[in-house]
Amino acid sequence: MKIAVLGSTGSIGVQTLDVVRECLPHARITALSGFSNIETLARQVNEFKPLACWVRDEQAAKDLAGKINVRCEILIGEAGLISCASETNADIVVNALVGRAGLKPTLAAINAGKHIALSNKETLVTAGELVTNLAREKNVRLTPIDSEHSAIWQCLDNNTPEKIILTASGGPFRGLPREKIAAATAKDALKHPNWSMGDKITIDSATLMNKGLELIEAMWLFDQPQEKIDVVVHPQSIIHSMVQYEDGSILAQMGLADMRLPILYALSSPERVKNNFARLDLLTCGDLTFEPPNTDNFPCLALARHAAQQGGTLPAVMNYINEWAVYEFLSGRISFYGISDIIEQAFGIYTIKEVKTLDDVNEAESWAGEFIRERGTP
Ligand code: NDP
Ligand code: MG
Repeated sequence: MKIAVLGSTGSIGVQTLDVVRECLPHARITALSGFSNIETLARQVNEFKPLACWVRDEQAAKDLAGKINVRCEILIGEAGLISCASETNADIVVNALVGRAGLKPTLAAINAGKHIALSNKETLVTAGELVTNLAREKNVRLTPIDSEHSAIWQCLDNNTPEKIILTASGGPFRGLPREKIAAATAKDALKHPNWSMGDKITIDSATLMNKGLELIEAMWLFDQPQEKIDVVVHPQSIIHSMVQYEDGSILAQMGLADMRLPILYALSSPERVKNNFARLDLLTCGDLTFEPPNTDNFPCLALARHAAQQGGTLPAVMNYINEWAVYEFLSGRISFYGISDIIEQAFGIYTIKEVKTLDDVNEAESWAGEFIRERGTP
């Protein structure tokens, strides 16, 4: 197996390389990409000796060149990242990029006939129809890394599901009164109760936008309408998601909160690879509880459900504005509810279009960019 890992210096990228090192000794890494974390990328390049790697700019490329002691082409720019995704001899591309940056490399990799192990959910939120249609046309596999989607995928058999039940941890602010949540800082929001992840997804988990993005991701991955996908808060993150069939039977996938498991399965399925990861102990894991999500305190989930239901270019607009707002919140420039407020304002004036080509997505994102510039940071 030859693997390109995009976003190799991030949380999922690093764990992907751990999985390769520990469980897939015959796999070869053909390309790696970082962005700003040159130390980590240099270590990875020296260990895995890819043919090519990518960093954000010329300065980063120079810094990297000074730290590597193997032959490896160093690429920069949008075209360079696309080349990492599509031009090395990888047969599978792990997309562990964060945010909108993931879409174009994914399309290029699919066009080049490469299978995709997808962690970058924003790709499917922005252009789910384009991506899944192209994958079908090119006959490539799109396997999920996101733990909920891996769970659903493992629970699906050949029967039509009556519904999909996405589980959510509820994030660090579950159960708190709205006034407390409103005053939350980035530092508070970055304390996720169960998972250690990159900053953007950790904030998305605190607002429940992550579950909204996952709802749209599930629609495209499993070809299901939004009304057949329920969200249930399960604070222990032991059941990673469920599928209910027409006879009422529910299948659930369980395990510890360890992303290496879905990463490994995305790369090895249908084979289950023996490993020494810690096992879930049912006798000590405690009670498993379930409750409805509170969309009054976490409006991002309701906004994402609305975008899922309306479809067209609205999810791309939501994703763009959310991404901007999350980084504004991380920098302390807007409040926690500033994130949902600006998305709601955009929804109030945006005219939805159909997504027929990538141009439609680009236009929607340009509109969102313009909306943000005109409105300015409050
Ligand atoms: P991180 O922020 O930890 O990593 C992101 C990676 O992308 C890093 O390698 C980073 O480089 C690189 N990167 C950042 N910005 C850009 C850019 N503009 N262009 C190209 N590369 C860039 O994110 P995560 O690993 O947490 O998440 C990655 C994706 O996986 C997200 O879509 C997330 O929603 C999804 N996901 C993550 C889970 C997790 O447990 N972390 C669980 C399920 C899904 P550098 O670090 O060098 O700057
Ligand atoms: Mg998830």
